[in-house]
Amino acid sequence: MKRRDLLKTGALAGLGGLFSFGAHPAGRHSASQQPVRNVIFFAYDGFTWEDVASARTYAKRHMDRSLAFDRLFDRSSAGSMDSSSLTSVTTDSAAASCAWGTGQKIVSGLLNMYPDGTTLEPILRLAQQKGLATGLITTTRLTHATPAGWYAQIDWRRREEDIALQLTDMPPEVLLGGGHRALSGELRDDGHDVYGDFVDQDFTIVRSEAELQQANSSKLLGVFHRSHLPYEIDRRFQGVAAPTLAQMVTKGLEVLSGYDQGFLAQIEAGRIDHANHRNDAGGLLWEVLAADEALAVLMEYVDTHPDTLLIMASDHGTGSGAVYGVGKRYREGSTTHDHITKRTASFPYIIDEMQHDPVPPHVTGVAKRYTGIRMTDEQAALMVRALHGDLAMPNLQAYDRQPYNTLAHCLRGGTYDDPDRLNINFATGQHTAGPVPVAAYGAGADTLECGMVDNTDLYDWMASALDISYRNPSMSRHAAREALAE
Ligand code: ZN
Ligand code: MG
Ligand code: ZN
Repeated sequence: MKRRDLLKTGALAGLGGLFSFGAHPAGRHSASQQPVRNVIFFAYDGFTWEDVASARTYAKRHMDRSLAFDRLFDRSSAGSMDSSSLTSVTTDSAAASCAWGTGQKIVSGLLNMYPDGTTLEPILRLAQQKGLATGLITTTRLTHATPAGWYAQIDWRRREEDIALQLTDMPPEVLLGGGHRALSGELRDDGHDVYGDFVDQDFTIVRSEAELQQANSSKLLGVFHRSHLPYEIDRRFQGVAAPTLAQMVTKGLEVLSGYDQGFLAQIEAGRIDHANHRNDAGGLLWEVLAADEALAVLMEYVDTHPDTLLIMASDHGTGSGAVYGVGKRYREGSTTHDHITKRTASFPYIIDEMQHDPVPPHVTGVAKRYTGIRMTDEQAALMVRALHGDLAMPNLQAYDRQPYNTLAHCLRGGTYDDPDRLNINFATGQHTAGPVPVAAYGAGADTLECGMVDNTDLYDWMASALDISYRNPSMSRHAAREALAE
């Protein structure tokens, strides 16, 4: 039976009597009796406090402005969030998104499922059951872990063609992001045209920024890339075509605002994580600034729609790129950071350019053009070997993909008294475990206990705001480890 049929017949709602939908027909109220009509959750994927420092420094020195992020933290209930998963201090994005969406910690790699096959109901499905409109807006594939964490139930996050089919089963009214390859009949293994399933359900489908702007529909599917959306740095400086996150958010809010019953939306700045994995400080900066532009749109929306609660959170850190001190009394710290203005393309874009002619003079020329850095002969030789795929280099940044790892290595900052290289170095190419930023702004935010919270607490924030009392089943760490061992 398909999910929408389950919901129609009430079979899902009858499960163990755990659902309590419609228990408060008079309307939704948070603890302060301040009515909450809409909840917007803005996920920054793989984002840490050092990323704030780099973006803030750039905005101040080169854009003459402050960050919306700083205004948010000034005006909201804000703090830090523990991001651990059920079985590890370090989480992946799937378990992280599910912790927010279900109030339960799960094991990395799965979506809304325990290793023994027990499924969990994510908040987006619960909101749909309550009659709310819903939306997912992301710079990644719509079938990628963070958005999928709010609608899919599957034992492996990489099965995105299967995840896409779960998306068509009671789809959110607004879906904007990437991921054409999991939807197109020409690119899917089973040849199934998933777009057709959306057309059957009265969706308007848009594939470009121009079409997005013109769309005038109450159900909107926008897919703007085969995979993830291009990096903002490539859109901005290299003219790669794509809508910005702020443009997608603006249109998404316009559509969702048309629903009288209110809405729940998850918005994701998903490629902060990707840039951090690759230790790409320039790509990272522009992903954070693009997120900040979208955040400004969202705060403006909350200011003009006071019945809206906005929650912003990072799902975990990635990379731990640190803006380190340079020079005597660190007086060269800010000016050395100015080197970031010379970064004008993402690592994948730079690697593509290098591949055109993988010999030392071309490689050093490309590096200079897009990063301002003059590679040494030794570094150019390393880079050429990596481009030819014949380099078994130690994973100095612990990121296991070549030639990105080598590019990151060749662009690393110098010593503390070297003002000639950008002063950002990364500790790893993996996710990290430190506390991450979290904030709540708008309707009911002042009643939320922020400070140091757990990722699962954010489910309670949303559920309480939307008057949802469903509790997902829990599993102990021990039971999860036993099930995984089987
Ligand atoms: Zn993540
Ligand atoms: Mg993500
Ligand atoms: Zn990641």
